[in-house]
Amino acid sequence: MAKMDENNPLKHIIAHAKEYGFIFPSSEIYDGLSATYDYGQNGVQLKNNIKEYWWKAMVQMHENIVGIDTAIFMHPTTWKASGHVDAFNDPLIDNKDSKKRYRADTLIEDAIAKIEAKINKEVEKAAKRFGDSFDKEQFLATNPRVLQNQGKIDGINARLKKATDDADFADLKALIEELEIACPVSGSKNWTEVRQFNLMFSTELGASAEETNTIYLRPETAQGIFVNFLNVQKSGRMKIPFGIAQIGKAFRNEIIARQFIFRMREFEQMEMQFFVKPGDDQTWYEKWKETRIKWHKNLGLGEENYRFHDHLNLAHYAKAACDIEFNFPIGFKELEGIHSRTDFDLKSHEEHSGKKLQFFDNDDNQSYVPFVIETSIGLDRMFLAVLSSSYNNEQLEDGSERVVLKIPYALAPIKVAVLPLVNKDGLPEKARGIIDEIKFDFQAQYEAKDSIGKRYRRHDAIGTPYCVTIDHQTLEDDTVTLRDRDTMTQERISISELTIQIENHVSIKNLLRQL
Ligand code: ATP
Repeated sequence: MAKMDENNPLKHIIAHAKEYGFIFPSSEIYDGLSATYDYGQNGVQLKNNIKEYWWKAMVQMHENIVGIDTAIFMHPTTWKASGHVDAFNDPLIDNKDSKKRYRADTLIEDAIAKIEAKINKEVEKAAKRFGDSFDKEQFLATNPRVLQNQGKIDGINARLKKATDDADFADLKALIEELEIACPVSGSKNWTEVRQFNLMFSTELGASAEETNTIYLRPETAQGIFVNFLNVQKSGRMKIPFGIAQIGKAFRNEIIARQFIFRMREFEQMEMQFFVKPGDDQTWYEKWKETRIKWHKNLGLGEENYRFHDHLNLAHYAKAACDIEFNFPIGFKELEGIHSRTDFDLKSHEEHSGKKLQFFDNDDNQSYVPFVIETSIGLDRMFLAVLSSSYNNEQLEDGSERVVLKIPYALAPIKVAVLPLVNKDGLPEKARGIIDEIKFDFQAQYEAKDSIGKRYRRHDAIGTPYCVTIDHQTLEDDTVTLRDRDTMTQERISISELTIQIENHVSIKNLLRQL
């Protein structure tokens, strides 16, 4: 892993993503728009491959899950029923000196993280001191300093939860003051009051003033699934338990969005709502936690980079909830949420629409509103997880360096680069002939410019798993060299074996088979 700039650990990634056509700031010629990004020619390929891995793992591999694609605009009552009009708020606070805006709850959570870091330091120190005989559980349960800090954390968490649940902004402010939280920019503790801020973007539907109706850009894709629950269940003759999956854009007017594609105002979600019989929800919640973590770990980005984090402050709809956190360059942060949403959404839509949203169970001869387990992952965060953990600055044996994106082969934007050794003697024509063969199976790229070494480096930098080089011998015996991105080894193989050799390593099928 390349050494990170501590003040801006994402700096290398952002620069690399731009230089190599993965991500550009949106409308950059006008100096960009904050927290909005465009995916470039390589970015869109990687993004599509992540979508394909998710979609196939969820829909194609589960006979009881189907996909849909619903509109971004929805009837405004949807958001009343879902609770977003009344409760999709963040408590915000401004620092009067730096004029920077923060989420009050995030400031408090950061303060908790600092205390947690102290505990971790104690554990590390003790582990060193005691060596093999170190018993972490016992240490955590008995060390006075650890216990004192854990007590502090529990106290703050409980107060944060109560203040959030009761929308008690005065107490949130009081907590920030008591914890002596300073603005990271100005260093001052000169704060405004805490205010409530709704995260939904609104716009108007209709051309004339009389007709106008405030509508929202959806802040999550889930509600499109809930309002179509019966349409899908009936037309697909689905039997409980079953799931509905969707990939699509979501919009949130985030208060702070300064972390590249980690937190954007326009982003993409991959969500699945799984409808179960009430009472079976806990079992399915556990099952989906297991299924989803397996999907992540299967990519080989490093098992140590994932952890579960149980929610203490449950959202208005949730019975149980956890995050799968990933070790981003900015630390462990939420990548995916798994939520046990009870029958909150369907019941609420029943009440607001006056339509029944129930399942008739033939076995029990009764109707009920199903409970829901949701898995919700941010596509852009997943993209950042892949990109940041793939970025490597390697020192090679000959003393040179290379930047290589070790993207899982099946997700790589370009699978094969086809390179004529020299740009003459019929080699370009031969190379083009190979592209014409393999382009039906893989995203391939022809490259004739620059030395072969430079071309290899360029493809290392965008994560291309294989480079096929055509030389004079190719014209004689129809063999080429196949270079592997990670090992940099080259083997000579016959053109007729190319497709099968590459396919074996770059196919999403292989990832799916391991699930
Ligand atoms: P956070 O606590 O980070 O704001 P959240 O708990 O509000 O996230 P959910 O409502 O559970 O997020 O949304 C599900 C997923 O959507 C998240 O796990 C995340 O991957 C993604 N997501 C949410 N907000 C954003 C955003 N502003 N930009 C990019 N991805 C996002």
